[in-house]
Amino acid sequence: MSKISNFVGVSARKNVEAAIAKAHANESFHALLSLTETRALERADAVDRGEISGKLAGVPFVAKDNFLTLGGTTTAASKFLENFAAPLQATAIEKLEAEGAICIGKANLDAFAHGGSTENSAFGPTKHAFDQERVAGGSSGGSAVAVALGIVPFALGTDTGGSIRQPASFNGVVGVKPTYGTVSRYGVVAMASSTDTIGVLASCTDDAALVMSIISGKDTKDMTTLPDFFVPTKLDEKKSIGVIKEAMTDDVDPEVRRVTNEYVEKLRTDGHEVEEVSLSLLKYALAIYYIVVPAEISSNLGRYDGIRYGKRAEANRLREVYGSSRDQGFMTENKRRIMIGSYVLSSGFFDAYYLQAQKVRTLLINEFNALLTTFDVLITPVAPTPAFILGENTNDPIKMYLSDVMTVPASLAGLPAISVPAGKNEQGLPIGVQLIGKRRDDALLLALAKRIEEEV
Ligand code: GLN
Repeated sequence: MSKISNFVGVSARKNVEAAIAKAHANESFHALLSLTETRALERADAVDRGEISGKLAGVPFVAKDNFLTLGGTTTAASKFLENFAAPLQATAIEKLEAEGAICIGKANLDAFAHGGSTENSAFGPTKHAFDQERVAGGSSGGSAVAVALGIVPFALGTDTGGSIRQPASFNGVVGVKPTYGTVSRYGVVAMASSTDTIGVLASCTDDAALVMSIISGKDTKDMTTLPDFFVPTKLDEKKSIGVIKEAMTDDVDPEVRRVTNEYVEKLRTDGHEVEEVSLSLLKYALAIYYIVVPAEISSNLGRYDGIRYGKRAEANRLREVYGSSRDQGFMTENKRRIMIGSYVLSSGFFDAYYLQAQKVRTLLINEFNALLTTFDVLITPVAPTPAFILGENTNDPIKMYLSDVMTVPASLAGLPAISVPAGKNEQGLPIGVQLIGKRRDDALLLALAKRIEEEV
C-alpha cells in the first residue's frame, strides 16, 4: 500500500508538522541528526499557496546526512563536518524539490558511510525500529528507521556496499540500490567512487519506484550518469530466477535461510522458474571490496585537510594542521580505511593487492554477466543474520565486515539490487531478501517483488 499517496493533495503544512512531531516523539531512536524545520515549513506553505506543484507536492522525506542540502548542516555524521552548511544541494534533492517534495531533516549514518550498523556515527548510534537493544544496520540506518517508524514515507540513502539494502532488511522496508550511474552523485559526500550509488528506502515497491523515476537520469555534473531508463513497470511475464547457493550455506542464520526459501517458494507458486545456481567467486567478493573500497576512500578523503572546509585543528605548522585536523575529525573506522587504502596503493604493494583485487573483480563481473544471460534475476539473503545487538561487533572489524558478504558483489559489478521484506524470525525481527538484476533492470526487480508483496 502506497504511503506516499496519503500525503498528496492534502495540506503540505499539516504533512510537515505531523512528520516533525513524529520525529520529536521518536527521538530515542536517534534516526535523525537534525531537522530543517524552517525551510521545510516555508516550502510547505509555498506548496499550499500553489506556487510549487508536482508528483510529490507536499510529501515529506528525510535524506541521509551525506547529501548536501540547504536549510541546515550536512555532517556525514562526522566531527569533521559538524558545522558544515552546504552552499548547494545534491542533484537528487533538487529533483525531488522540483516535484514538490519537502526535506524535513537529515538522517544518521556511520561517519562518511563507513560501516554497517550506524554505530560509527560521531553523534551516537541509531536504534533498531523494533528493538532498541539492536542496531539499525547501516550505513543508512537513520533513513531506514525513519521510514520504518513512519516519520516519513520515504528516505534517500547511499549504497556503496550494502548501505541501503542491509538497514532496509533489518527494519522491514524496501531498499533500492540502482544500477551504477542511475542517479547523479553530484552533491553527495564521496566514499568509493566506483561503487557509490544513490537510492531510496520506502515502505513499498510502488513508492520506491515512483521516487526512483524522479531522482534518476543524466546529469551533466556527474559524467557517470546514464540516460533516463527508470520507468515503473508492471510484470506480466514469467521470469527465470537463480538462487545463489553459495549464499545459502550453513554459515547463514537458519531463520534467514528459512525466510529466503519461503520467499523463493512464493515466486515459484507465482509461476516463475526457479533454479539453484552457483556464483563461485562470491567467496572473494569481501576481500576484493575491502581492498578496492578503502583505496578509493583514501583518495576521496584526502580533501579533508582542515584548510578548505570543515574542522581545523589549532596548530603552528601547516603539516600539524593537516595531521591534527584529520586526527580529530575522523573516526577510528575512517582512519582504518584510509590506512588500508594507502597501504594497498603504495608502491611495492599496489600490484599484490589493488591490481590483483581489480583483476578478480573483473572475473566476478564476468561470472555475474554469464549467469545473467541465462537468468533474469538472482536471489540471495540480504545479510547473513537479522539485526544484531548494539556493541556486539564493534570490537571486531572483520565480524562487522562479514555482514556485507551478500551485498558487496552487486556493488562491485554495478548491478541493480533491491532488498524487500520477506518475513520475520521467531523474535519478530524483519528479514529481507535481495533481488539482483541485469544492468538497467531496476524497475523490473521492483515489479517482480510487487507480485508477491501483498502476501508478506
Ligand atoms: N557496510 C559496508 C561498508 O562498511 C557498506 C557501506 C556503504 O554501502 N556505504 O563499507
